[in-house]
Amino acid sequence: MIAQVIVDIAHSEVDKIFDYKTGDTEYQIGSRVEVPFGYQKIEGFIIGFKEKSDFPESKIKEIIRCLDDFPALTLECLTLAQFLKDTYHVPFALALRQFIPAELRGGRVKEKTLSFVTLTEGISPIEMVASLRKGSTAQANLIGYLSKEGKTSLTVLNEKFGSAVKSLKEKGFVTVTQEKAGRIPYKELDAFSKDVKLSKEQQDAIESFKNTQKTVTLLYGVTGSGKTEVYLRLINSTLKEGKTAIMLVPEIALTPQMLRQLRARFGDSVSILHSGLSKGERYDEWLRLKTGEAKIAIGARSAIFAPLENLGLIIIDEEHDGSYEAETAPRYKTLEVAKKRAELSGSKIIIGSATPSIESYDKALSGEYNLAKMSTRINGKDLPEFIVADMRGELRRGNESVFSADLKDALKECVEKDSQAIIFFNRRGYSQQVICRDCGFVAKCQNCDVTLNYHRDTGVLKCHYCGSAYKMLSACPECGSVNLSYSGAGTQKIVAELRKLFPNEEILRMDNDTTSNKEGHFKILKQFAERKARFLVGTQMVAKGHDFPSVTLVGILDADMSLYFSDYRSAERTFQLITQVAGRSGRADKKGKVILQTYNPDNLILSQAINYDYEGFFKNERAIRRATGFPPYALVLRVMIESNEDGEAMNALKEVYGEIKEIYDKNRDNFLFFNKMRSPVKKINGKYRYQALMRICGDYQKIKDQIYEKSLSKKTAKVLIYVEENPSNLY
Ligand code: ADP
Ligand code: ZN
Ligand code: ZN
Repeated sequence: MIAQVIVDIAHSEVDKIFDYKTGDTEYQIGSRVEVPFGYQKIEGFIIGFKEKSDFPESKIKEIIRCLDDFPALTLECLTLAQFLKDTYHVPFALALRQFIPAELRGGRVKEKTLSFVTLTEGISPIEMVASLRKGSTAQANLIGYLSKEGKTSLTVLNEKFGSAVKSLKEKGFVTVTQEKAGRIPYKELDAFSKDVKLSKEQQDAIESFKNTQKTVTLLYGVTGSGKTEVYLRLINSTLKEGKTAIMLVPEIALTPQMLRQLRARFGDSVSILHSGLSKGERYDEWLRLKTGEAKIAIGARSAIFAPLENLGLIIIDEEHDGSYEAETAPRYKTLEVAKKRAELSGSKIIIGSATPSIESYDKALSGEYNLAKMSTRINGKDLPEFIVADMRGELRRGNESVFSADLKDALKECVEKDSQAIIFFNRRGYSQQVICRDCGFVAKCQNCDVTLNYHRDTGVLKCHYCGSAYKMLSACPECGSVNLSYSGAGTQKIVAELRKLFPNEEILRMDNDTTSNKEGHFKILKQFAERKARFLVGTQMVAKGHDFPSVTLVGILDADMSLYFSDYRSAERTFQLITQVAGRSGRADKKGKVILQTYNPDNLILSQAINYDYEGFFKNERAIRRATGFPPYALVLRVMIESNEDGEAMNALKEVYGEIKEIYDKNRDNFLFFNKMRSPVKKINGKYRYQALMRICGDYQKIKDQIYEKSLSKKTAKVLIYVEENPSNLY
């Protein structure tokens, strides 16, 4: 028998199936094996078997051994890996790696063990004590303790009895044994769950999901409408049918409440897949799913590869979130993979959001997805009311502070009424865009209608979609003001100002700097939930699905900034961010309020967000995308070329461009844009960066595959080439 093996080297040159003899051993498909390869031994995956090889018998080597007690990959995983390989054009080995914890590779897993102590059998405790030297009280006490308590952890005994443990061991009176410790992460999360009666809307949503024949259901439910409860009930039904479930969230560290509820209802059936776990923990969680001990996987996007069999349900919460797009190879879109997995396993998908992506809502309206709507809050209250603070006026009135008068008043009221507030500051939008502080003008590209980025090094404004460069402005072209801003405050400065205004109040800050380790987010969110602080100041992280009942005020410091991401999705992102962060206010019995600070009070997107006019926003945005030729009506493709040597990269770009030009010439009608240029950020980590950028439309699947193929064929040892589809960042 011949085994077909993919060797675990993610390199295009060895990206093929190798034949190996199985000898007398019976191997299983999906198993990891050790094989001779050239002069080395390496790990590989068995993806199939055949009777005969096309190579001469003498040339074929034999598999050395099987690496695990069980096949690491199921047939479903293998098929999905093939899908990843074909769709995202990555080596098979890289696709396969997504399905196993990194720790499994290279035999790095060490099972965590604990030491336990028992009294040695055969001698009675009384005899033991009698044989001790006078004054050995600790040893005598230890013997007494063990004879009463039985098996006890070594760590505990060492703490209680110190060196006595060692002395007794030397005498042979006690025996130390090793036992495997099951590591279950986030034990400290106290399980917590409300027992609730479903609302009519929740009931209808669940019915709608159960009754539809469509694979994907979009749950479009306003903030606070109780989407989580819907997910939990669906998981419950899935388990009852004897099936398993995957639940995806944008960032696991930001969802302690969700984890607590899952734990409360499903106990150890829940497995948390999270990059912040220790290696051992990650492996253990994977193994618990693999063996069927755990039946629910919760995690960020990569949990879509969880090793569950008999899958019945895939949940994608906050489906609009950018984190569902992988930014390193394989550059997959999570929903795309989920659909394939659902097709293979016969499961159904529910994606949920208060602000669905343009693409998903478009599909729901066209009937491709089933649509379930929940348009009222569980608490029966209206969505929080917006108050717009016009920052142009503040400046004129001499208020140089980052807080408008309205926001200051609202914060004071919040203190008086003893509730809590969240202050959202979108630092990411800062420092690259040019905005007039007097009239709100923002510089945009004439060809693309996307915001220009200021490049400090060359002092020009650049469009990242067409490469056009404009001279830096010295004054505002609309109002003539020289009060142009292209840099701003950070969250730290905001906390400092807030502290000046409210010296007696506790303030928490949450951003990338405060939350570098895995517990960072948890700790801050926990403190805030326990009302240890009045105010929480933070970046996008504070906008995600948190449910703090005492929050009645949300301040959005710079609503404009995300309007100017140099991204065709900037309007969509702005609408989503504002709606999401506003949705943190007034979720329980008290009504909520939102103060939105802006230099552009008349901006259409802002007024749509303020009025919770998702439908209006959607129609408008879809029309713009259609007219300007952006997704979902076209595909943005960027072929990236990177090399340590500028000349090499430039040459490769020329070659790649030449190849794509041929495709372009044959399919002119499908190309809305095609050009080559240096990347906006010319050099990262010593690598020079170039790109071919295009937008293609119509029936583009074949063209896309050709572009991948031709571009990737130009890869060399010195030049890295990869393709991005609808990239979120064109840096
Ligand atoms: P969403 O994700 O839609 O913003 P959540 O799922 O966080 O909303 O629910 C908002 C709040 O309502 C939570 O505190 C949740 O426990 C509570 N809740 C959900 N469903 C019900 C229900 N049927 N009855 C009472 N409270 C509920
Ligand atoms: Zn101006
Ligand atoms: Zn442009």
